[in-house]
Amino acid sequence: MNTTRTSLPSLEGQEEFATRHIGPDDREVAEMLAVLKVDSLDELIEQAVPASIRTSLTGDFPDPLTERQALERLSGYAARNKVVKSMIGLGYHDTELPTVILRNVLENPGWYTAYTPYQPEISQGRLEALLNFQTMIADLTGMELANASMLDEATAAAEGMTLCHRLAKSKSDRFFVDARTLPQTIAVLETRAQPLGIELIVGDATSELAKTEVFGVLLQNPDLDGRVRDLSETIAVAHEQGALAVVAADPLSLVLVKSPGAMGADVVVGSAQRFGVPMGFGGPHAGFMATKDDYKRSLPGRIVGVSVDRKGNRALRLALQSREQHIRREKATSNICTAQVLLAVLAGFYATYHGPEGLRRIAARVQRQASILAAGLKRLGATLANDVFFDTLVVEAGGDADGFIERALAEGINLCSLGDGKVGIAIDETTERRHLMAVLRAYGKGDPDFTVLDLDAEVTDSLPQDLLREDEILTHPIFHAYRSETEMLRYLRLLQEKDVALDRSMIPLGSCTMKLNATTEMIPITWPGFAKIHPFAPLDQSEGYRTLIGELEDWLAKLTGFAAVSLQPNAGSQGEYAGLLTIRKYHESRGEGQRNICLIPSSAHGTNPASAIMAGMSVVVVKCDDHGNIDVEDMKAKAAANKDRLAALMVTYPSTHGVFEEAIVDICELIHEHGGQVYMDGANLNALLGIAQPGVIGADVMHMNLHKTFCIPHGGGGPGVGPIGLAEHLAPFAPNHPMQAEAGPELGLGPVSAAPWGSALILPISWAYIAMMGRSGLKQATKVAILNANYIAARLGDTFPVLYTGANGRVAHECIIDLRPLKDLAHVSNEDVAKRLIDYGFHAPTMSWPVPGTLMIEPTESEAKAELDRFCEAMISIRAEAAKIEAGDWPETDNPLVNAPHTAELLLADDWQHPYSRSEAAYPVKGLRGDKYWAPVGRVDNAYGDRNLVCSCPPLDSYQDAAE
Ligand SMILES: *Cc1c(COP(=O)(O)O)cnc(C)c1O
Repeated sequence: MNTTRTSLPSLEGQEEFATRHIGPDDREVAEMLAVLKVDSLDELIEQAVPASIRTSLTGDFPDPLTERQALERLSGYAARNKVVKSMIGLGYHDTELPTVILRNVLENPGWYTAYTPYQPEISQGRLEALLNFQTMIADLTGMELANASMLDEATAAAEGMTLCHRLAKSKSDRFFVDARTLPQTIAVLETRAQPLGIELIVGDATSELAKTEVFGVLLQNPDLDGRVRDLSETIAVAHEQGALAVVAADPLSLVLVKSPGAMGADVVVGSAQRFGVPMGFGGPHAGFMATKDDYKRSLPGRIVGVSVDRKGNRALRLALQSREQHIRREKATSNICTAQVLLAVLAGFYATYHGPEGLRRIAARVQRQASILAAGLKRLGATLANDVFFDTLVVEAGGDADGFIERALAEGINLCSLGDGKVGIAIDETTERRHLMAVLRAYGKGDPDFTVLDLDAEVTDSLPQDLLREDEILTHPIFHAYRSETEMLRYLRLLQEKDVALDRSMIPLGSCTMKLNATTEMIPITWPGFAKIHPFAPLDQSEGYRTLIGELEDWLAKLTGFAAVSLQPNAGSQGEYAGLLTIRKYHESRGEGQRNICLIPSSAHGTNPASAIMAGMSVVVVKCDDHGNIDVEDMKAKAAANKDRLAALMVTYPSTHGVFEEAIVDICELIHEHGGQVYMDGANLNALLGIAQPGVIGADVMHMNLHKTFCIPHGGGGPGVGPIGLAEHLAPFAPNHPMQAEAGPELGLGPVSAAPWGSALILPISWAYIAMMGRSGLKQATKVAILNANYIAARLGDTFPVLYTGANGRVAHECIIDLRPLKDLAHVSNEDVAKRLIDYGFHAPTMSWPVPGTLMIEPTESEAKAELDRFCEAMISIRAEAAKIEAGDWPETDNPLVNAPHTAELLLADDWQHPYSRSEAAYPVKGLRGDKYWAPVGRVDNAYGDRNLVCSCPPLDSYQDAAE
């Protein structure tokens, strides 16, 4: 009977990883099957998954590795990457993550396995960390508010462009980009501008902006030549013509340099990478965006704001949240969903630990070293492109440029070739005297007759007084409180303790697939062989990465039935966008550029219509029937009515309603008959892997969320990776990259991310998962994911109606339970249930999506039966509590549900006036007496926070007021 845990002993000296990843063992599987009244897992799968889509994977696929073997393979890949001292710059710098943050945050599941903080009561720790990040960004940029991260600098610049387009007085459709902007940023802007009908003008802003009518301008400071400027005049020129100004800035430079806000900027974007986040061959890093208070409602991404709880205590939550969750659907202006929370948290802690003095020391040292190097190079006869710089020098090396770069490489240093005989040299916080000497030797073809110390004695700093900032930064006490490691360690622990992450209990969030992020998968990402590689380093330094990337692409293609895979998109939303652009290009290539209608079922995730709009398409919504399926008649009618203009259908499979639609194959055929392409949203791939292949079912392109199905942790709301699988005919249009020919096809759509392979650093996680599971393990995981969901549906079905099931009464890998009857019977809302679950120690399931008034539960394969039972017991107990309200034992306005979550402070108050007891509130089920999570705040008032929007750390006296 045993099929997983006690099969033949592995001959590899370690147990199979699949038995660790998959929660239930064979005995538990058998018990759950008995509850479902089926004899085997295969029988259940036959009932749940339509025969028309089931395929078995063919072709060669490697045997599963043990955990030790996987680490050995990965360490081999890391060793095949060459760690060379990077002085390339171009927006990526080596940096030192303080080890107390490395170990206690980046390597700590308490932080990396958390979900996006939509449930604020269990997220106060990461919300505070993000508020620190926002405060730091707003301070450094000199703006009024900042959001809680963007995907990278280039996409942040693109979002800045579209924000200007919406808000500028000028009605022009032209956007000016200063030519000395980072090349990858310009390339991403080009990709973004084209489908929106925005014309990009790339030129010298100082001399040409006044002559051109535009709605906005992007300026980089310091620019590609390392030049630091006061942009006030150029920005004033933009304002005079009713245009807005976006400044792309380097946060470390802003510690010393006059802020873009002080220069009049409307939007400031950039990357917080050099605040402690490894380069990682291009990502993930926290991009940022800051703006004026006037534009706060147009700011894309998530914003953390300050509010209060029921008792008036200060409590944080995502501001303007209802807006963000739906990404404004057809009216969307941005599709950003998963962002870069963990990386923003790291950057925020970096600033918290160093404080303003520490950052000033780091920035001043960088600037000092740059000044010294400049003087040394000049002594050796070099000409510099400019004399006002922060950290980057550009040498006019003429015919010797390549020679200079080669000699530096022989010294173990990467420099940057900027073309036209220019060589860029960027200093960072890890640069030492020996590196400066090595650059001088490389330039002078031998030892100079002076030393760095000689220069230090005579050189003055290069930044003129009028470019220095005069205002204080990071004045808030939070940036002054944690200077010793002991204090920092305890601060990190304090925040972590406030939150529920996967290391505490299951997070049954439908559509989000919160499964195990195994330790073995996570270990390699902080190895220097992966962490310290610059994305534009010479290719022979990234052999290990590229081999791993090639294998991962190949495996993902085989698993999904596509011809090719692009790993560049750095979130699911970016995959959607990239995938739709390949469809757009495909139609154009066939002379059918008029095809721009995108059909999207009403049940779709908000990112779908948002991505379609960004890809220049018009959305036509298709109805769903009472069973949660696409209304095929409605779709037929709409496909036929638009047949000359039909570009695509975006369909989630299995649907967001948690069922496998029987008609999916016909639906794909119908779209093809009408000249359209099928975009599949692969967020639910965890229900298909090893059982069915989207590419075979009929999808032309699909994104996968590696942070859902393939074990990259959610990090509290990012990072993610959203690769797309492409059929043969779309593959030639995949994303590519102007600075890295190998990263995509020649005729591709251009870059959708700043880095050629997106967030490469976290790809070893998904590689390890697939390598250790193998084909059979992945298939088993899918079956158990479906089993777990059906088990929950069966156990809860008598208590709460399960909203949708497939033809045989089975759900897919998630199920929606209907709480609307509770509202009628007992005035209990689904929010009350969600908050009461906190008292039971659980993160609530997905609330009111895709159906208002419901909860969508996705247990994943990683949860063992005991945890599923604990969750079901909690839900059933909550239903019994609601029954007491129904029966009139407890008033509708005062009961454990409406008052949830209960804080220790509330329960220990000397005065207790509620009609239920303290122990009924705190320990409704026995297990909680030995293991209790205490929410640090009571129910958070969202409306209050949105009315009084505060998005940076509030002054200390406000803590006082709130507590009174
Ligand atoms: C998560 C999700 C997305 C968006 O993916 P991100 O990685 O968050 O951008 C799209 N569609 C569905 C159905 C999802 O669950």
